[in-house]
Amino acid sequence: MPLIVQKYGGTSVGNIERIKNVAKKIKKAVDAGNKVVVISSAMSGETDRLLGLTRELSSRPDPREQDMVVSTGEQVAIGLVAIALKELGIDAVSLTGWQVPIITDDVHTKARIKKIDTHRIRKHLDEGKVVIVAGFQGVTEGGDITTLGRGGSDTSAVALAAALKADVCEIYTDVPGVFTADPRIVENARKIPVISYEEMMEMASLGSKVMQIRSVEFGAKYGVKIHVRSSFNDEEGTWIVEENEEMEKMIVRGISHELKESRITVVRVPDKPGVAAKLFKALGDRNIVVDMIVQNVSHKGFTDISFTVNKTDADVAEEIAKEVAQEIGAEEVERNDKIAKVSIVGLGMKTHAGTAAKMFEVLSKEGINIYAISTSEIKISVLIDEKYAELAVRSLHEAFIENMEGDIQYE
Ligand code: ASP
Ligand code: MG
Repeated sequence: MPLIVQKYGGTSVGNIERIKNVAKKIKKAVDAGNKVVVISSAMSGETDRLLGLTRELSSRPDPREQDMVVSTGEQVAIGLVAIALKELGIDAVSLTGWQVPIITDDVHTKARIKKIDTHRIRKHLDEGKVVIVAGFQGVTEGGDITTLGRGGSDTSAVALAAALKADVCEIYTDVPGVFTADPRIVENARKIPVISYEEMMEMASLGSKVMQIRSVEFGAKYGVKIHVRSSFNDEEGTWIVEENEEMEKMIVRGISHELKESRITVVRVPDKPGVAAKLFKALGDRNIVVDMIVQNVSHKGFTDISFTVNKTDADVAEEIAKEVAQEIGAEEVERNDKIAKVSIVGLGMKTHAGTAAKMFEVLSKEGINIYAISTSEIKISVLIDEKYAELAVRSLHEAFIENMEGDIQYE
């Protein structure tokens, strides 16, 4: 009997009507002859509401207690889904993360799954039940409740699919799948039918918010077939799978953009060994993740060093940069919050030359200035003014996706 893991996001279980709809979908999979394990998120808005309560009491709530509070959202949702299923005549049982148990490390609010004991789930499946598991949560070896970071239900689902060796992990969400670009910006954006794990990880980390990155990493590591699809219809969504040769035909699979970074520039840095090391060590020591780094060509013994960080870290990063600037005798520190990172992602870049040149040409035709560039084997990212982000995404989509249609059968 095939085993399916289905994950429903917050919007899919957002109210009682929608929960009834989810129950119908689960019933369909059961009636089709599948064993089904369901992962549910909290009802939409609930996690934010619970976090808000903790923040009313403290600006930095104790992480263990915060997990105690926010993990309750999922517990409510799984119970409701189980009740809805029973109303349809389907036998179901809901389990929290600690009832499974899903064992995690003890890093509260962003714990990592260490192992999943599947005995209890298997027992219930053998009894002919649908098992509804709470997403986003687990338990430490010592018995404390943990959560897996925002959007963590995706990771619960893929990890559970891996542990159970499920045939597929279906991620039901409020969009029809993964798109070639944000459809709110690009009218001609379309659903990507098949994408590799690697491309999906790049897109997720570059701003495409469909799935938690860690869940895709899990999928890649254990070869879990992931199908991202809408919970509001029966259409096929996007399959995330192992890469194959066919995939390299498309140079660019998708275009991502990200507005949540800030750029910090240390101006007129004396150009001598050890200066960059000092700056980035200071940032690293404070756990600040630096994304793009550019050092200008040195001019009369001085250079500028720019880097980008998440906006949430920008205040601290600026402060550190100022301290270091003073120490090393740099002139000043500048900060720009109005920047955007726009990226093109595709396996085909490995085998097609000239992609970067074409990208820069498209942008220059629109008069868009590039501040920084970073590349990997399958992506090119550029840093530009925030006000040009939408224009850049649209023109790149036209050049790399819409105008490639003649060459490649896309859908
Ligand atoms: N409810 C959690 C959140 O809002 C987990 C999830 O939805 O995946 O982040
Ligand atoms: Mg989500």
